[in-house]
Amino acid sequence: MDRRRILLIIFDGLGDRPVTELGHKTPLEAAPKPNLDWFAANGMNGLLDPIGPGVRPGSDTSHLALFGYDPFEVYTGRGPFEAAGVGIELQKGDVAFRCNFATVDENLVLKDRRAGRIKEGTADLAASLNGMKLGRHRVLFKEGTEHRAVLVLRGKGLSARVSDTDPHEEGQKIAEAKPLNGKGKATAKLLNAFTRKAYEILKAHPVHAKRVKNGLPPANMVVCRGGGVAPDLVPVREKYGLKAAGIAGVALIKGMFRATGMDVLDVKGATGGLDTDMLAKAEAALLALTTYDLVVVNVKAADLCGHDGKASEKIRVVERMDQMMGHLRAHLPQDVIVAITADHSTPCAIKDHSGDPVPLTIFGEGIRVDEVPHFDERSVAKGSLGCVVGRDLMPILLNQANRTEKFGA
Ligand SMILES: [Zn+2]
Repeated sequence: MDRRRILLIIFDGLGDRPVTELGHKTPLEAAPKPNLDWFAANGMNGLLDPIGPGVRPGSDTSHLALFGYDPFEVYTGRGPFEAAGVGIELQKGDVAFRCNFATVDENLVLKDRRAGRIKEGTADLAASLNGMKLGRHRVLFKEGTEHRAVLVLRGKGLSARVSDTDPHEEGQKIAEAKPLNGKGKATAKLLNAFTRKAYEILKAHPVHAKRVKNGLPPANMVVCRGGGVAPDLVPVREKYGLKAAGIAGVALIKGMFRATGMDVLDVKGATGGLDTDMLAKAEAALLALTTYDLVVVNVKAADLCGHDGKASEKIRVVERMDQMMGHLRAHLPQDVIVAITADHSTPCAIKDHSGDPVPLTIFGEGIRVDEVPHFDERSVAKGSLGCVVGRDLMPILLNQANRTEKFGA
């Protein structure tokens, strides 16, 4: 049997619910998208529950499921994936947190949770915290995009069972980290010590003075959340025998790729924002398929529109996604199996992730083409795949790629 390569395209947060202003269509139903429809019309289709029916997935847990892992078993929190995303290599026993640079007043009351979405100087601020020693423990600290950053505590006897220092609401005082069980006591103490020291260092930093002078909210505090220990994941290569690579704009998804043993391919213009260069991503995916067995592409833009509740914006994003699919359609080698899906729905009416299933189309030579003419939430429901769960996607794709072992004689 000729083995095929796999291209998995994940449109982040693409699924939606009917929108009144769109005549009770979803943004995907309302958008003109001839190329996405072409893939559906020439492929087999269905719905996909990323984690399980009715489960509201995070992007991290959902990507784990789409790569064939059981998130209930392996997921240890978002922090470790953010750390992998900014390029910190985690060691066994490390505890990682997602952080924001934030603004507090002299009583440590939170004034701006994102320090005015600070863009400049964060690398300098992070460098002033990185390498900090807290007794026998060490701090690794790295900036992410804008106000985001990652904290890793390294040393013996750490646990992720600690509460956040991020009060999550402005007007509240910075929270004391508390142990969530007996094991978290030492880590909570350490996190509180880091927080106090970070405040002292940041408020004396030249970036702070410069921002105050320019009337900008200073980044004089770090708030932490989502602590997790480095997860134990069998790399994709071992799990499936696939040489795999991932393309994404956002750090979290890059972290998902790295943590599952995929190579992360940097693409110029892939920002993870609405301005992301989707054609550049398609181009990079086509190039990657010449050397990799599995290429995963994440496009974040639709999710952002969902979180902002902007249905018309989501339609425009779908049109751009469709141009990207048009480019792939024109240049796709014959021996590639393509899967097009999403990691979850982000309905504009909810402005958050929901447990509604997402569309799934699988295209390639030898596929049993079904009768579905359009790539959208309701049309694909009539397809031959029925409703599958995220963890079944990889086995289905491996079968279509002629890469599965026979079970039995
Ligand atoms: Zn997502």
